[in-house]
Amino acid sequence: MDQAPDRTHEGTMRRALLSIVTPFYNEGEGVHAFFNELYEELEKIPDIDWEVVAIDDGSRDNTFNLLLDHSHRDGRIKVLELSRNFGKELALKAGLDHISGDVAIVMDADLQDPVYLIPGMLQQWRNGFDVVLGIREDRSSDTRLKRWTSSAFYTLFNMISDTQIPVNAGDFRLMDRKVVEILGTMNECNRFNKGIFAWVGFRTTSLPYVRPIRLIGQTKWNFIQLLLLAWQGVTSFSAFPLKLLTVGGLFLCIVTFIYGSFLIFDTLILGGDVPGYPSIMVTILFFSGVQMLSLGIVGEYIGRIYSETKKRPPYVIRKIHQQKHESHQHQDHRSIHTFGDHPFHPTHFRHHQT
Ligand code: UDP
Ligand code: MG
Repeated sequence: MDQAPDRTHEGTMRRALLSIVTPFYNEGEGVHAFFNELYEELEKIPDIDWEVVAIDDGSRDNTFNLLLDHSHRDGRIKVLELSRNFGKELALKAGLDHISGDVAIVMDADLQDPVYLIPGMLQQWRNGFDVVLGIREDRSSDTRLKRWTSSAFYTLFNMISDTQIPVNAGDFRLMDRKVVEILGTMNECNRFNKGIFAWVGFRTTSLPYVRPIRLIGQTKWNFIQLLLLAWQGVTSFSAFPLKLLTVGGLFLCIVTFIYGSFLIFDTLILGGDVPGYPSIMVTILFFSGVQMLSLGIVGEYIGRIYSETKKRPPYVIRKIHQQKHESHQHQDHRSIHTFGDHPFHPTHFRHHQT
């Protein structure tokens, strides 16, 4: 079990470093508000140093320039410029791969993950927990449809998946460095963070919060994208759809066998009456449908295997921006991991292509 003293780095010369990891995609309107709130909160917390790893996920508005402004003003802000939009799941992976901290907190850019939870999360970390989840207590800020589909999703997912994901936990969470390092070794490109985060385990606790509505900018997800994410989650963490096929196929075979026996009996013994066209058509159509469906689901998994076997990097960073003293980030990304006076362990340096 982890000891609290280890967390506060007692006996060493340095204070613990907290990394705030935040993905930004077209959040231009909210960048200033985000940093203002964050600064205000972080400055209140004693005994901690902090950095922000801001990922620009291929924004098309002025998000990147605003982030760069902040990073020029404050060396604690590191900006990862992805080469295009990779989506939140991969943007987060990029960010987590580049933290220098002893502990990381993942939060959205739109202030829907309230900063006031940070001190509580850190307290739990100091108490020895490796993961502290922010649990959405009241989802009244979501539409009724979103609430209903999300609760259906959690129920279904936890029924059919080996990995149980905590209900109403988003990506907003604190993770100890060792958890982040394990995540760094998981390079799947078809990424479902909720599942991956849950899969690694570790000592976990949670803090409830009420999720405010988005005040600035707009949500980046539409209903179809959420459905696709849910499907991604199910097929990444469960072979249940495949098993369903086997069972369904077997069931259909049995039914067909009984029906076929009945037809033979009907024709041979009772003499039958119709030439058989309707039943043949119905059977052919029905089973073509079943076959297509089956092929589709099998294809889905083969598609996954295909894209994972290519071993493409999950994301591509165009450049890492950070105001630095002696380091030359552009030539050597490693150098940026020496932050301030603190000797940090190097994190993972995969997939760097500029
Ligand atoms: N985001 C991202 N890449 C994307 C979509 C979203 O980095 O392709 C970021 C976005 O900027 C925000 C976070 O992911 O910081 C959550 O997005 P959003 O608020 O739209 O999601 P919601 O809160 O509606 O689930
Ligand atoms: Mg949001």
